[in-house]
Amino acid sequence: MKKVLVFLMMAIMACSMMLTGCGGSKEEKKAEPAKVLRVGTEPAFAPFEFPKEGSKELTGFDIELVQAIGKQMGAKVEISGMGFDALIPALNAGNIDVAIAGMTITEERKKAVSFSDPYYTSGLIIMVKKDNTAVKSIDDFKGKRIAAQIGTTGEMKSRSVEGAKVTTFNTQDEAALELKNGGVDAVIGDLPVMEYYLAKGGSQFAMTVGEKMEAEQYGIAAKKGSKLVEDINKAMAELKKNGEFDKIYKKWFGEAK
Ligand code: GLN
Repeated sequence: MKKVLVFLMMAIMACSMMLTGCGGSKEEKKAEPAKVLRVGTEPAFAPFEFPKEGSKELTGFDIELVQAIGKQMGAKVEISGMGFDALIPALNAGNIDVAIAGMTITEERKKAVSFSDPYYTSGLIIMVKKDNTAVKSIDDFKGKRIAAQIGTTGEMKSRSVEGAKVTTFNTQDEAALELKNGGVDAVIGDLPVMEYYLAKGGSQFAMTVGEKMEAEQYGIAAKKGSKLVEDINKAMAELKKNGEFDKIYKKWFGEAK
């Protein structure tokens, strides 16, 4: 009986060594690139991630950046769309490897996930109806009705306004529509996304007020402690060095970083 057990244990050890590769070999030190990089995003956040016109295929700054990162890492990029508030749970559940979604690096989120180096500087802004000249800054919204996208820094900011009645929506566009319909007095959200929205026709009824609030940095999120973050940072540094990052940045924002 004892012999059988010893044999079994040895067999298990041998199998697990085969699976992990022989300890101490040179190969082990080189990080094996993930063959498929499963990316999650919230696909209604132009110009960072949104469907190409008349197609389901996604495009945008984040999408092109993560494609380039995947290529650099030798991995095939597979993108799936979900609600912004579903991204961190999906990372934690292991359903996706990384999330790129104009996601601000915050202390709170850092407790749940690991972030890559920052890749874009953003910040929040307030959007109101074009005829609303009474408001100048966030202090004018005490007790007012504010819309924001669920789970975002815009929502957190809205909730910090004294007495404000905050309504959340799945997408930034839905929050803007609520403003258009007169359901709220303002929308708080990311400046580059609001600017894009205004430029694409939103300026017919809306405008931004005041200055961009404090700077926010976007990062690519991975499961807490994931080694992938290191690989992503390496790939991103290479793209910055070889000009690819600037090329993508210029394409979407019209100027070099
Ligand atoms: N930057 C904001 C945040 O991280 C909004 C992101 C988004 O809506 N995709 O909360």
